[in-house]
Amino acid sequence: MLTSVEGRSVVVTGASKGIGKGIAKVFANHGAKVLIVARGADDAEATAAQIRDEGGTASAFSADVTKSEDMDAMAAAAAERHGGIDVLCSNAGIFPQSHLEDMSSDEWDLVLGTNLKGTFLAIKSCLPHLKASDGGRIVLTSSITGPITGYPGWTHYGASKSGQLGFMKTACMEFAKYGITVNAVMPGNIVTEGLEGLGADYLETMAASIPLKRLGSVEDIGNAALFFASKEAGYITGQTIVVDGGQTIPESIEALEEA
Ligand code: NAP
Repeated sequence: MLTSVEGRSVVVTGASKGIGKGIAKVFANHGAKVLIVARGADDAEATAAQIRDEGGTASAFSADVTKSEDMDAMAAAAAERHGGIDVLCSNAGIFPQSHLEDMSSDEWDLVLGTNLKGTFLAIKSCLPHLKASDGGRIVLTSSITGPITGYPGWTHYGASKSGQLGFMKTACMEFAKYGITVNAVMPGNIVTEGLEGLGADYLETMAASIPLKRLGSVEDIGNAALFFASKEAGYITGQTIVVDGGQTIPESIEALEEA
């Protein structure tokens, strides 16, 4: 049993849907006060209302992670509403597919600007509040795609997800003196609105390639984030945890089929 996160102030970017919503719900179920951040105000409010209906503490904030002024306003709102910031889950991300031959410079900038620069901006704005916490925690949502695997159409996405890990290695050193840890969850294929947008064929083929024979749930990622945010994980920094049902393990199709 981990020490409770009850009463901790948690900011989750990209929390109106998918993995971010799952992370927010897991923290709220454990008594944390959660700020639900996304661009779409209605979706963010709907998620916050759902958490409140289930007995949790949550409020919504509309912000774009690509804009530094939005990130400053987000951090100020979390601090004002929830008495500071103890945990930042930097999760907002996009994964539009585009093959390199056809990829425009704007497409590249959008993905890197959201997934990688958005991580930097969210952290920078929350940092003063995380420093004031007794044990600030930053949890990034990276991916297996980029750091471990490749998939056609995702050169920009893979670069952004590997980039988050490179960023983390130095950020965790710079923040260690403040008692802040920085770690990353690397999800495999998780059932979310975003992933469902890739089509039924993608989901079916993907599930068949996973040793545990199912796609992950958003709670699977939320639970890993909760661990990194716990008091017990206080001596872990600059590290990653792969949550992929074993997807990255088989060395060949034969190995998968033989098991
Ligand atoms: P999703 O279902 O599409 O949800 C994305 C969330 O991020 C939404 O709340 C969206 O709300 C928000 N968002 C997008 N752009 C934003 C921006 N510029 N500023 C603020 N919020 C923004 O995606 P997901 O599948 O949950 O993915 C979430 C994260 O997990 C991403 O970082 C992704 O790379 C990572 N991941 C996902 C999978 C997977 O299998 N699903 C696997 C590995 C890693 P708005 O559009 O209203 O802003």
